[in-house]
Amino acid sequence: MILSESTHGKHTRTATRVVGAGRRKEWTGPVVNPPVWRASTHLYEDTAALARNGQYNEDGRFFYGRRGSPTQWALCDALTQLEPGAAGTVIYPSGVAAIAGVLLTLVKPGDVLLISDNAYDPSRTMGTGLLTDFGVETRFFDPRDIEGYAALFCERTRAVLLEAPGSLSMEMCDLPELARIARAKGAVSVLDNTWASPLGFAALEHGIDISLMALTKHVGGHSDLMMGSASAGPELYAALRKRAQQLGNVVSPDDAALALRGLRTLALRLRQESESALKIARFLAERPEVAQVLCPMLPGAPGHELWSRDFTGGCGLFSFIFRGGSAADRDRFVDALSLFGIGFSWGGYESLALPIQPKGARSVMPWPPASGNDPAVDRHGVRLAIGLEDPEDLIADIAQALEAWKRA
Ligand SMILES: *Cc1c(COP(=O)(O)O)cnc(C)c1O
Repeated sequence: MILSESTHGKHTRTATRVVGAGRRKEWTGPVVNPPVWRASTHLYEDTAALARNGQYNEDGRFFYGRRGSPTQWALCDALTQLEPGAAGTVIYPSGVAAIAGVLLTLVKPGDVLLISDNAYDPSRTMGTGLLTDFGVETRFFDPRDIEGYAALFCERTRAVLLEAPGSLSMEMCDLPELARIARAKGAVSVLDNTWASPLGFAALEHGIDISLMALTKHVGGHSDLMMGSASAGPELYAALRKRAQQLGNVVSPDDAALALRGLRTLALRLRQESESALKIARFLAERPEVAQVLCPMLPGAPGHELWSRDFTGGCGLFSFIFRGGSAADRDRFVDALSLFGIGFSWGGYESLALPIQPKGARSVMPWPPASGNDPAVDRHGVRLAIGLEDPEDLIADIAQALEAWKRA
């Protein structure tokens, strides 16, 4: 949906925009939230109106259910307003569908796609699987190695998929520089911005061409919804929208309403989660059982300087590595936690813990990040997604689980 006036459009501070974004009077009527418009058929006044409408394919025009209704339009409009520099946002039925929708807009047979080696694993396998089947060549790069990255480009390089911090291993990279090089080489840069969201990293303002998110995570915020989005400037937005229509991507109005509800507390939740995560990261960094905390928000942790330079926020998701011990010890720690669920996804109000082994999902980057693939370096990691519980309770839970880690 193309950017429009909202009730709070005049105010530029983020928390205020999060409250007002997408709430256009013609969609909400006299109530606060846009109603849930459940619709496949859109009815026309007469055959003349039908004939007229057939000529248009514009945002905010009733046509047929697949092009959405005010519930979905309000969500797209809100996400556009939260991403400075965006002309519009397309929504998809999942984060993975957003990644597929974006890549299928950008590449065609014979093209080369560059994917950051520490990207979300389904993004990697989209390159090595689906897109390879369609005649696209994928190359992986270490986003911290700017020279190696620049050297990978060729005449056929059409797009670059970035993600920061890296999936599970949380490395930071110089996003503005990577985006600048992509543009100079004639390629489109795409950022999976699920971790920071536009509230923590204004991707387009930093030179990224397309910013995508798994709305499943923070925007939904309550672990009851699957959805994705992609925001871009006018030309790329038009291309994304066209491809999404061709692929038949739709989001139900009920889910769009849930995403809008989640969005209203996004700034508050991210702030609290980040604050709690930082407390817990500090606690872990002091513990003798922990070799390294991988949390770019933590001063002294890998990537902290780049994070401080480019990001204005973060979230509750980070990882750490045990000092010594076995995979079984690590798993015993996770099983001993009582306030953390074990599961994929994150960005909900509840805390989660996940044993991690990123090695199988890397082609060029070492695990752990600074190990140089030295097998003697400790490598049993856990990813924590910190929710809205009291951080002191979470710390006490982690402390008792560390005792279980020691009890072989
Ligand atoms: C979860 C996630 C996705 C995929 O989102 P789904 O809605 O689960 O398909 C993509 N990127 C990142 C960084 C994620 O964490």
